[in-house]
Amino acid sequence: MTNALSKLLDTKDAILTDGATGTNLFNMGLQSGDAPELWNVDAPDKIRALYKGSVDAGSDLFLTNTFGGTAARLKLHDAQNRVGELNRIGAELGREIADKAGRPVVVAGSVGPTGEIMEPVGSLSHSEAVEMFHEQAEALKAGGVDVLWVETISAPEEFRAAAEAFALADMPWCGTMSFDTAGRTMMGVTSADLALLVETLPNPPIAFGANCGTGASDILRTVLGFAAQGTERPLISKGNAGIPKYVDGHIHYDGTPELMGRYATMARDSGATIIGGCCGTMPDHLRKMREALDTTSRGERPTLDQITEALGPFSSASDGTEGDAGPERRTRRRRRA
Ligand SMILES: [Zn+2]
Repeated sequence: MTNALSKLLDTKDAILTDGATGTNLFNMGLQSGDAPELWNVDAPDKIRALYKGSVDAGSDLFLTNTFGGTAARLKLHDAQNRVGELNRIGAELGREIADKAGRPVVVAGSVGPTGEIMEPVGSLSHSEAVEMFHEQAEALKAGGVDVLWVETISAPEEFRAAAEAFALADMPWCGTMSFDTAGRTMMGVTSADLALLVETLPNPPIAFGANCGTGASDILRTVLGFAAQGTERPLISKGNAGIPKYVDGHIHYDGTPELMGRYATMARDSGATIIGGCCGTMPDHLRKMREALDTTSRGERPTLDQITEALGPFSSASDGTEGDAGPERRTRRRRRA
């Protein structure tokens, strides 16, 4: 493996990713309901500023502004014929900023869910999903991303379709799911399920993990769940900056930079190697995370009590694996004992 991410993983104890894309763009004037991907063409300086904000705060890797770049998502904005253009330019702007950083910075091509429900529950077929992800993947590759990065996925079928598309594009990749429903994804996937799923893929990801979800404590519990499966793959933790709350008519995330610094070191202690933020995570948070990771070394795995003491309560009593009678339950019990 000679891709830029694997090289960085060989030399670093932990990799800091970027933070929020949406929250940052809303602060730059994006209106809710707008397609952020259109700004790759219409407001490229704002996208450069988004990327540069992460790099200047110390991120080793950032995601491109292409989360909603599949034809299915762009169709909501009547831009389904611009998949190639919007993704390629989003990637090219990223390449430009990363190459000017003066140190290795990885450009990861963000691929979000299609927004459609896949068969057998919904109507989107496997081959249609693969085709859409493949179209986006080729455009990101043409724009010069180092790796592809599928995120915020709920359904195992969609994760598999993305993986297959990335094989067609012959690109290394990472993948994360969002465990936002009492420790599981909206479609019921547990941390243990995802750790097992990635090993069944013919082209497994370089790294896998969790993003978004419900706050810093929950995502660390999920990371401990991945680690309990004994995976040797690097784990990703890209958690929100606290919990979203409505303040004066807009969404505010309550996690302070200090809390996110603490979260970053605890994510590393929990077993994550690729650590960053998701919604609500701004450059100020990233700077504290960078500082916290650089001034401490990897410690003991935290207990669940240590996590809640440092970062606040979990959103649910369990991480969703407790009801299963599978081996993951025994592993988790051993780990906690
Ligand atoms: Zn998020």
